Amino acid sequence: MIKPGLKIGIALSIILILPSLFFTAYEIGNLNQNEAVIDSIYSSQLESVLFSINQYSDDVLSGWANQMDKGRYGLDKEIELLETKNYSIDAFFLINADRYQLFPKEKIPEDSINSLSKMLEEIYLVNESKIAALQRYIKSGYQKIGVLKANMDGKSLFAFARNQDSLSVETVLLLVDTEKFIQENLGPKIQGIAQDQYYISVIDRELNTELYSNVVFDAEGKNIQQKKEIWLFPNYDLGIQMKGNTIEDLVRKRTKTNVILLVVMNVILLLGAWFVYKSIQQQIRLTQLKSDFISNVSHEIRTPLALINMYSETLEMGRISNEEKKHEYYKVINTEANRLSRMVNNILNFNKIESGRREYHFKETDLNQEVEIILQNYGQHLDSKGFEISFAACEDLPKLLIDQEAVSEAIINLIDNAVKYSNETKKIKLQCEKNADYAILNVIDHGIGIATKDQSLIFDKFFRVSSGDLAYKAKGSGIGLSIVKHIMDAHGGKINVKSEPGEGSVFSLWFKLNK
Ligand code: ADP
Repeated sequence: MIKPGLKIGIALSIILILPSLFFTAYEIGNLNQNEAVIDSIYSSQLESVLFSINQYSDDVLSGWANQMDKGRYGLDKEIELLETKNYSIDAFFLINADRYQLFPKEKIPEDSINSLSKMLEEIYLVNESKIAALQRYIKSGYQKIGVLKANMDGKSLFAFARNQDSLSVETVLLLVDTEKFIQENLGPKIQGIAQDQYYISVIDRELNTELYSNVVFDAEGKNIQQKKEIWLFPNYDLGIQMKGNTIEDLVRKRTKTNVILLVVMNVILLLGAWFVYKSIQQQIRLTQLKSDFISNVSHEIRTPLALINMYSETLEMGRISNEEKKHEYYKVINTEANRLSRMVNNILNFNKIESGRREYHFKETDLNQEVEIILQNYGQHLDSKGFEISFAACEDLPKLLIDQEAVSEAIINLIDNAVKYSNETKKIKLQCEKNADYAILNVIDHGIGIATKDQSLIFDKFFRVSSGDLAYKAKGSGIGLSIVKHIMDAHGGKINVKSEPGEGSVFSLWFKLNK
């Protein structure tokens, strides 16, 4: 059969601990999932920011192409306007069936013009297929800007096609100073988009250097979270980073807090469950002890009652004529009645202690004298049981402030136990000693002794040592020592025990000396 304590433990784990552990596991799983979702939302957000910057650079160049087509002042003038307004444009190069014509930004020396024209013409020829595609686009009404490979430091070369007239199409090559374009055209856009939320920078991929950034590099350090190639400037990347706490940081921080909270909650729950389990176990133990107590007490009361009954009946019937015998019978009745009364008193006092109604009346008392009185009263009873009892009094013992009745009760309880738990060696010694602070009364027996593991438990109410023949057979209720302990506590003193199984025990009552 499963023990009730174990049953409660299992029930508690099922009711309290298991659901919370499941919940914790579920929450941790959820947190990871949430983190992944937030992470992907965050990535797409960064990506769309970069996309819009990319789109913008495309729009700028398309805008220029458009202006050349649809401007109000004619091609040459529009080119001139574009070049004066846009710091980054170095030159336009117009190619159609009739001419190759360079529109450089500033007046540059004739030979440079020639060499540049030559170079652009060559690039044009090399990229013929790409340019043919751009021309096809324009014929179907769609203008597209293409990037051409140009071996020129810091410059980018673009191509687009335009309708020369309703019949023919011409090509425009556009030479742009990359750094100036990024500073002049992308810069303001990046500032506008980034505001206080992001760090955005343009990075030269080959040199791995930053060409532009919306903030001056500072100690916070840059940890670029996403990079994208700029469509029209393939050698450059756009990099982006969230300012301050990134969402990742926030999610990580939140996850950490949640996990800590869950762990704390579980620990509290476990402690709570453990506490409930322990107190229920204690309660069960107490109930068991109480039921033992009732059966022990009933058993203990029955014996003296039966004896009193038997002897008094015999006397009543007048069958005993021998005076000596009669006297012996009266003595038995008297002894048993005393035993009963001590037992009942013990139970009543215990009840008073339990309900907090026990009162003490302290009076200056001579402890030596008190012990002598007890021995006078009980000497005969002990003699009759074959016990030899001695007392070594304290010398120069000042009077102690004690409750005489309660202290007698404590000493009698200890003597009773010494008698109950002695075997063949029926010797009990009471011994008083004194140190600077305490008067100590030792009750020494040579009985069965107490195992070390039980020594701390014997002062608990209802506790009885259950192992060993004599301990098992001796009658008792398990409340005697708990009453003694209570009495000593009320006196500001204490009780302790030194004992060796098979050798005997020394119970010591410590009384504080009056200063
Ligand atoms: P009980 O009515 O059982 O004697 P007590 O509270 O007086 O109850 O003692 C508790 C237990 O301590 C006893 O059951 C016994 O096992 C043990 N005990 C007490 N006094 C002695 C002693 N002098 N020698 C050995 N065991 C003792």
